[in-house]
Amino acid sequence: MIPKSNISLQIIVVGGGIGGLSVAIGLVLSGHKVVVLEKAHQLSEVGAGIQIPPNSTRILEILGCKAQILERALVPKAYHFHNHKGDNLISLELDPYCALKYGCKSLHIHRGDFHRCLVQRARELSINILVNSGIIDIDLDQNAAITHDGRKYQGDVIIGADGLNSNVRSSIYGRHSLPTNSGDQAYRSLISIPEMNKHPELDFIHKIPCVNFFWGPQGHVVTYPLKGGNSCNVVVMGPDNLPPDSSVVSADKGEILQFLKTWDSRLQLLLSLATSTFKWRLQYIEELDFWSHPTQNVTLLGDACHATLPYLAQGAAQAIEDAAALAYLFGKIKDKSEIHFILGMYERIRKPRTSRIVNSSKECQQIYHLQDGEKQELRDLECALDPPQEGCPARWADPEFQEYLFGYNIFEECEKQWLKATTMKEKL
Ligand SMILES: Cc1cc2nc3c(=O)[nH]c(=O)nc-3n(C[C@H](O)[C@H](O)[C@H](O)COP(=O)(O)OP(=O)(O)OC[C@H]3O[C@@H](n4cnc5c(N)ncnc54)[C@H](O)[C@@H]3O)c2cc1C
Repeated sequence: MIPKSNISLQIIVVGGGIGGLSVAIGLVLSGHKVVVLEKAHQLSEVGAGIQIPPNSTRILEILGCKAQILERALVPKAYHFHNHKGDNLISLELDPYCALKYGCKSLHIHRGDFHRCLVQRARELSINILVNSGIIDIDLDQNAAITHDGRKYQGDVIIGADGLNSNVRSSIYGRHSLPTNSGDQAYRSLISIPEMNKHPELDFIHKIPCVNFFWGPQGHVVTYPLKGGNSCNVVVMGPDNLPPDSSVVSADKGEILQFLKTWDSRLQLLLSLATSTFKWRLQYIEELDFWSHPTQNVTLLGDACHATLPYLAQGAAQAIEDAAALAYLFGKIKDKSEIHFILGMYERIRKPRTSRIVNSSKECQQIYHLQDGEKQELRDLECALDPPQEGCPARWADPEFQEYLFGYNIFEECEKQWLKATTMKEKL
């Protein structure tokens, strides 16, 4: 599925997160040499759980990471959507449905485990990952990434996978480029399942692996257990009250319980068991005019160019799709003179899809966080339609949108676009 180029480029990847490691793995499989420059002193992922949807599992298999991920992941049986009082609005089967319909499973996993699987695969492929290598700027004349301590790494291509506050993005644009505040924040915690076991009313959250959503006034809650039977991932979204100069701070449990005061009492019980909670400001990137420098071989990937609200659980999945697109397209390269053409094609393939997902995730904020009233009643009635219809508020249950999210095969898309572009080039 990933073609192998007969020339070998030197590629610099800035950022060793999920997106950066995925692209590094993909590019080595397509025949190139890659160095990953990571700002942190050690490789790790913060946060708690992450969902890996089928459009992402499909790629991880081709990157050679599936077996390790499956060892550490759970396969959720279903999505269950509830209102904030705990009444079920709609359920959607995931297993075995996703494997039968899309050929790939939906998974959930601890972020640290996911990241470790990617690091392990990168090491198997002898990828050079340099920690303590924060990039402060790009020397555009030399196509080189400059570290905070003055080291320079020159490459045929530089890929900025340095996340929401990307320095590579600022270098491409020649100015500081900031993400947009969504007005929401996320409290993330891991809650002990042995503690939850003392309360049988919480069994529905963890006994059968499922993703539960609770939609309520100004916020929503997502829960799913993680492999090993020790912890349950719980995220509470609500109005942003972080200090302006911080994007993550430790959170007071009392504040969360106050926010959930009128919600299903089982959620209050669940959150009362949290031992430590942090809250993150939720930001996104408005569609950028361009992802790659107009003349130099520097581009962006993942959150650096299309950070999204997590309301469709697609942020990392989109970074992995970007990675697969770059791996495929650079697998086709025959001469260095084609690099800029390939970066243009990458952006044309990826931008419309990632923009639709960023915008759809923003729309979810309006759908999930309705106050009780007419709009909420209409939403709940639409959820009750059987079978679910196009426009279903539980967006994964909308048959057209589900196919768009889960059925997408980035390799097929790249192959199609490559054939189209090269046939046109030959005709000219
Ligand atoms: C609450 C929440 C829940 C989410 N749930 C899901 C989910 O279920 N499914 C899903 O697919 N997505 C989810 N996401 C989104 C997902 O976490 C991100 O989209 C994904 O991690 C982006 O990966 P990335 O590699 O592009 O960026 P990042 O993960 O931000 O990685 C960037 C890396 O670059 C490094 N770096 C930063 N600056 C520099 C620099 N100057 N020089 C060198 N290195 C640098 C960082 O240290 C980091 O390692 C969620 C997000 C949130 C906030």
